[in-house]
Amino acid sequence: MEIKFMVDTNVGKLAKWLRLMGYDALFFTGENDSGMIAIALAEGRVILTRDTQIMKRRIVTNGQLKAILIKSDKPGEQMRQVITTLNPNHQYRPFTICLECNQPLLESSKEQVRELVPPYVFQTQSQFMQCPSCHRIYWRGTHWQAMTKKLEKFMEG
Ligand SMILES: [Zn+2]
Repeated sequence: MEIKFMVDTNVGKLAKWLRLMGYDALFFTGENDSGMIAIALAEGRVILTRDTQIMKRRIVTNGQLKAILIKSDKPGEQMRQVITTLNPNHQYRPFTICLECNQPLLESSKEQVRELVPPYVFQTQSQFMQCPSCHRIYWRGTHWQAMTKKLEKFMEG
């Protein structure tokens, strides 16, 4: 089963990187830990946090809710800790989840995006994905390539 995440505000940068890898990673924006824990429990999400108090909660210590205490404050090391802990053989699937709103992307035909992307992009790219929620369009352009390169570096250490 695919692992889903609940990203605490104290490790917020992880949300984007996990989405880039193709993981469903919800970023917690609420006020209190109890709200975050309730959602994680209801949706079967693994909590990522730097908050030791969360790790001490009975629901976590008894194994009902999975949580990972993130050790480093550097995003690269944080990513490595998460992936090596949970899924060391993960094959990442970039281009599947919206980096902004965590929605699964849908494929768009070239014609559908003609008016929505810069002409150069339309001419040079053949595959487009769109977020059903924010309608942002993704393609494997230079920005995307730079991000995936950085991610690969993260994972190599
Ligand atoms: Zn979106």
